[in-house]
Amino acid sequence: MRDMTGWGTPTGVDGVLAQRAEPGVNRWLRETLHASRLLGRDPFLVLHGGGNTSVKTEEDLWAKASGFDLGRLDLDGLVRLDRTALARMLRSGELSDLEMMAGYAAASRRPGAPAPTIESLLHHALPFRSVLHTHADAIVALTDTVHGPDLAAQVLGDDVIVVPYVMPGFELAMTASAAWQARRADRCTAIVLAHHGLFTMGDDVAEAYDRHLELVRRAEEFLGREAGWRADPFDGADGRVADVPRELRAALDAVAHTPPAVAVCADREVTDFVTRADLPVVSQRGPTTLEHVIRTKRLPLLGRDVDAYAEDYTRYFERHAHRSPGARMLDPTPRVILDPELGLVTTGPDPATAQAVLDIFRHTIRIIEAAERLGGYRTMTEAQAFDIEYWELEQRRLRPVDPSG
Ligand SMILES: [Zn+2]
Repeated sequence: MRDMTGWGTPTGVDGVLAQRAEPGVNRWLRETLHASRLLGRDPFLVLHGGGNTSVKTEEDLWAKASGFDLGRLDLDGLVRLDRTALARMLRSGELSDLEMMAGYAAASRRPGAPAPTIESLLHHALPFRSVLHTHADAIVALTDTVHGPDLAAQVLGDDVIVVPYVMPGFELAMTASAAWQARRADRCTAIVLAHHGLFTMGDDVAEAYDRHLELVRRAEEFLGREAGWRADPFDGADGRVADVPRELRAALDAVAHTPPAVAVCADREVTDFVTRADLPVVSQRGPTTLEHVIRTKRLPLLGRDVDAYAEDYTRYFERHAHRSPGARMLDPTPRVILDPELGLVTTGPDPATAQAVLDIFRHTIRIIEAAERLGGYRTMTEAQAFDIEYWELEQRRLRPVDPSG
């Protein structure tokens, strides 16, 4: 079993808080930043910008800002929102994405502050001081199976609420809070979202944090026993920012909007995966969590026919374009290439992004393999993946990966 970091003593964030003169609030902020950093630094919980956290006072919700890295969160990355305004938004019963973002901007206590996480309404709707959210691999692996929701409930305990996949944003806030309210008497402190991740709650931050780790540990134990799960670091996980055979390089350059950077990994674990006899089936079902679509695209390319991939991608876009009126097709270059000889090849607009895609897909491999051992890997539908890939609010988060992080 992997050693997960304990709560310890929240330190290292006092400097930022020293200028503030609200000792009561400071404690909650300090602990929220501490929990955010602990969660954000564990790649089996949070990868490249995923996850969010919040803490409530009587009047305010302090929610993680969109696009900020959980592992290095500081006070600038918590947006202070007026809870009365959020309550009004939730009561309205229906809000478009743009209305929701305008609502967040209006609820912000500091004009010009960054936009808060898309999930701020859900954080608001859960009646606990602290709410922590990650896309933990082990939790996602449970839901990405044939009987995902049932399996998750069975492994994690029936005091965990399991919600089927829904689009994040207003719909998810409504669905998850209704599911919690339906079992109000149980005061459930965890919600699992299929093909998405985990929310835990607590009346203080350490409680929500401990609950989060406890459930991940439970999932990892089960997966270790039943599905050969490993949550240990990757051999040579850094991969190598490298190049690929000239013909593949030329094909990528010809299709891409701008010539992409490339990362390659072909260690034992990758080689075992890319030489699986059932690779054409298991690798073509979609991403493990909605979070990854914008970086990896829905499907990897098998082999080296980049032109055929781009044509398929164009047809996928045309099939679903009506779901996102006005959307323009994104760069059709494959982001993930699985080749029996080359191993795992990833691409991105810059080297750090290509490396981030490589990290994400190494985690994807473990999740797919575990889910296959539990009866079969299943995930969101093609249309659901399209909705995320072409969701304006997600695209907005897609800024270059910071190489230092
Ligand atoms: Zn999420």
